Amino acid sequence: MFDESFDLPQRFGGVWVEDAKSRLLQGSSGEEVSLNPYVGCAHACSYCYAASYRFAPLPWGSVVRVKTGSVGELRRAWRWHNKPVRIGLLADPYQPVEERIGLTRRVLETLSERPQFQPRQLTVMTRSPLVLRDIDIIKRFEAPCVQFSITTDNDSVRRDFEPMCPSVDARMGALKTLIENGVPVIASLSPLLPLKDAETFARSLKDIGVSKFYIDPFNPRGLTMPIVPNKSFTPDSVSPLLEKYGWTLQSYVGDMDVLKCVLGHDVI
Ligand code: SF4
Repeated sequence: MFDESFDLPQRFGGVWVEDAKSRLLQGSSGEEVSLNPYVGCAHACSYCYAASYRFAPLPWGSVVRVKTGSVGELRRAWRWHNKPVRIGLLADPYQPVEERIGLTRRVLETLSERPQFQPRQLTVMTRSPLVLRDIDIIKRFEAPCVQFSITTDNDSVRRDFEPMCPSVDARMGALKTLIENGVPVIASLSPLLPLKDAETFARSLKDIGVSKFYIDPFNPRGLTMPIVPNKSFTPDSVSPLLEKYGWTLQSYVGDMDVLKCVLGHDVI
């Protein structure tokens, strides 16, 4: 019998922590199975589209719900067998409370423990160096990938748009360590935030060994950025920050041209 219990703190890092008493599996998008160990995200990025899925009367990022029943559910239903699995589409699985309770680690252990039932592809989406703690488990999968988010080269911009997220240097360091440990990575420049120097940023990512990039613009209502079909909108509240940095469609396209020039076919 394995232990499904969690010693949940009531607050962690200034964020309310609750038992979600709900399930881990959120259904499939096409072929892919999407797993989110947490509801809500203490990283509280200003532009987060997941913030539109309001689940608490408090501001986005101030409450996190923990899907404490998820490990048991995974053990009972091997529905990911031979399907790609994505962890963290709606909330960072390595947000701060994970360091205390280790739910994502237990989810990964469960997914990996029967080799014959492993997912066809495992993608973990995060922006936290805490993912380095689980390199040992991630490497047990046949086809793992960490989609690691690094949205700017400018820590002042990062502090404005993502004040609760790890610094640019910490994220560059995490990407480098993942690569040094043989973990396949995709650097996710999404949404691309204002940059100090697009060419130097692209070259430093290449220099540490990143060879796949995903780049996406903001998607606000209005005409400052291209409207990407079938995607959720960037919250209107981020508009003042876009204006503060003069970050328009033209600046995005200009920096994107420079990035593409350096990164070439590595942009997916
Ligand atoms: S880390 Fe991702 S899920 Fe969390 S607030 Fe930021 S954009 Fe949203």
